[in-house]
Amino acid sequence: MSKIPLVDVKANYARHREAIDAAMRDVIENGQFIQGPALAAFEERFAAFCGVRHAIGVGSGTAALHLVLHALGVGPGDEVAVPAHTFVATAEPISWLGARPRFVEIDPATGAMDPAALRTVIDGVKVVMPVDIHGRAADLPAIAAVAAEAGVPMVEDAAQSHGAQLVRPDGTVVRTGAYEAAGCFSFYPGKNLGAFGDAGAVTTNDPDLAAQVRMLRDHGRTTKYEHLIVGYAHRMDTLQAAVLSAKLPSVDADNRRRVALAGAYSAALRGVGDLRFLADPPDRPSVYHHYVVRTRHREALLKHLNANGVGAGVHYPIPLHLQPAYGFLGHRRGDLPQTEAFADECLSLPIYPELTDAQLDRVVAEVKAYFETAG
Ligand SMILES: *Cc1c(COP(=O)(O)O)cnc(C)c1O
Repeated sequence: MSKIPLVDVKANYARHREAIDAAMRDVIENGQFIQGPALAAFEERFAAFCGVRHAIGVGSGTAALHLVLHALGVGPGDEVAVPAHTFVATAEPISWLGARPRFVEIDPATGAMDPAALRTVIDGVKVVMPVDIHGRAADLPAIAAVAAEAGVPMVEDAAQSHGAQLVRPDGTVVRTGAYEAAGCFSFYPGKNLGAFGDAGAVTTNDPDLAAQVRMLRDHGRTTKYEHLIVGYAHRMDTLQAAVLSAKLPSVDADNRRRVALAGAYSAALRGVGDLRFLADPPDRPSVYHHYVVRTRHREALLKHLNANGVGAGVHYPIPLHLQPAYGFLGHRRGDLPQTEAFADECLSLPIYPELTDAQLDRVVAEVKAYFETAG
């Protein structure tokens, strides 16, 4: 039987081949490989999709975080509050700017930053940066309230939550990336909206922040030969913008398919072994970038699935405060118990819009087979 991958970018291309090939051919034939109309068109469409005034295409999700933190003045001696249950790119740009991450405990029900824990560590923090982990908006209303009380801007790492919605305190529904001060997206190939290489975007309603990020991404200039500030080479390739414009119209339908698959997993796996499921707060529904379960048998179940053709994975096995790269911060096991337990127990099952019902049934059967024999 053929292997079921964790993510299948080839199946995704097959579905969008004609639109993508045509969009890329247009860019190649008109020769505008840097910036140009195809980039501007994507930025306009992505801003409309997120419901924000400005979207700025950049080189990667990591670059998006770097540019926003730079624009907000993060520098040596500063600290930025982030969760430790995330991809390392959430913290790296903080370090590039000479600042330090201040790790905040998670809410074990969702894996995202715990607003109550944030309140206890926010003193002296320069920026608060929650992560919409696994495809669900963090508790942005509560986190934004804690940040506002402390007079600190909030930046959203929305690298895993394209198209996800949440309810604001005033009852309006918004997409991730639309909260102040800015949202940072990644279009890494396996993300819910994926390019054919590295790409990212910053979203914001603040025209000054948008102008600053635009200047910083392109060598600190607004005209060809005058450089107003020392900037970066953090532009989005125009070919990637063309690919993304071709795929953007399908994101909502793709996300609905992910939600349906996640519902089918949860229904089929409830009561199996010691499996536990993440909470599903209805005011911020997930777009299931990952489908995550928790089990005390994580390593053995992962091994069983991988040995039987199911590409399960772990997001993420080592929390940032225990990564060798952040050893200099002096953390030890026990500092963030909820984060550490999550990292020890979480398992991601295959999820992508092209996953078939039959493939999902096979994944479920293998999970059950593990618990029937070993669990
Ligand atoms: C993917 C990801 C990033 C980094 O995005 P790149 O485009 O790979 O640089 C940052 N944060 C989170 C939470 C991510 O999942």
